[in-house]
Amino acid sequence: MQPMIPAARIAKSTLALPDWRQSMRDVVTGPRELLALVDLSELADRLPAANAGFPLRVPRSFVARMRKGDPNDPLLVQVLPVCSELDEVAGYSDDAVGDLDAVKAHGVLQKYAGRALLIAAGSCAVNCRFCFRRHFPYAEELAASHAWREALATLAADTSLREVILSGGDPLVLSTARLKEFTDALRTQPHIMRLRIHSRLPVVMPERIDDPFCDWLRAVPLQRVFVIHANHPNELDVTLAAACARLRDAGVTLFNQSVLLRGVNDNADVLTQLSERLFAIGVQPYYLHQLDKVRGTAHFEVADSRAHELMDALRAQLPGFLVPKLVREVAGDASKRPV
Ligand SMILES: *Cc1c(COP(=O)(O)O)cnc(C)c1O
Ligand code: SF4
Repeated sequence: MQPMIPAARIAKSTLALPDWRQSMRDVVTGPRELLALVDLSELADRLPAANAGFPLRVPRSFVARMRKGDPNDPLLVQVLPVCSELDEVAGYSDDAVGDLDAVKAHGVLQKYAGRALLIAAGSCAVNCRFCFRRHFPYAEELAASHAWREALATLAADTSLREVILSGGDPLVLSTARLKEFTDALRTQPHIMRLRIHSRLPVVMPERIDDPFCDWLRAVPLQRVFVIHANHPNELDVTLAAACARLRDAGVTLFNQSVLLRGVNDNADVLTQLSERLFAIGVQPYYLHQLDKVRGTAHFEVADSRAHELMDALRAQLPGFLVPKLVREVAGDASKRPV
């Protein structure tokens, strides 16, 4: 395990990182290239022939944090297509969390009181093999240029809303200028108090959190909440720590949510390290999600009984504020359901 990195010791903008748009163009999309980059070319003949319509996609910054020569590396297994994805497993479906029933307007999902979720972008910088929306018809739910207006009208009309959540896909694949267009239009809605962003880009492509992005967030006249999605302590390197320091400096409150994944983080020591190291870089553990039963992801499932054992171990080792809430999303529920 690497030592923890106190956020205060990270210089704010001094790390030399590539421009994020260049990094987006440079993502690794070839399974053979990925295996070569992590010294595992001998595994190439075990790759599945088909990719279930969900190709490999992973930013180089994330690849750089994988251990070389380890086929079980917890970062590698989150992104490498495997044959078991093609297994049909009972109970695993395409719309596991009822997203299609929750569509309120073009690009707007509302499942819970007071907060509406905007599918700001359909794509993402990475393709996680367990992605809860790998079969979701993004293209139809995009808040594309003309559709911002319809989404905004929906948010304006419902004065019970307090919070707008930018999600996706990943909202941070949009340019900062596009994000600003949206929040500029939102600022005239007095009932909206909070802007929440759910994004895995600070983790998989920390260079996205650049100065123009932070300047935009600093200037948004709402409370700003940012939920990063980290699953394993090895994802937390100095570049992510610096991105979190910049976000905090812009007045943003940081949380983390993880997905409980077999072979990645179904281990009490790993989850303990994750919470400790998140807090060391200024991020509050929030949720630990039981996997959504999305077709092609059954090999990541962790039984509830095992999840309970892990939570007991976390409670025995950590202060209460570092223990994430174990939840599952159940279609039709009024909130995420405690497991
Ligand atoms: C998960 C989710 C939220 C956020 O739920 P919190 O419990 O507030 O974190 C909001 N809207 C939708 C549609 C969601 O799926
Ligand atoms: S970061 Fe989130 S939206 Fe993007 S592929 Fe992974 S799980 Fe899906």
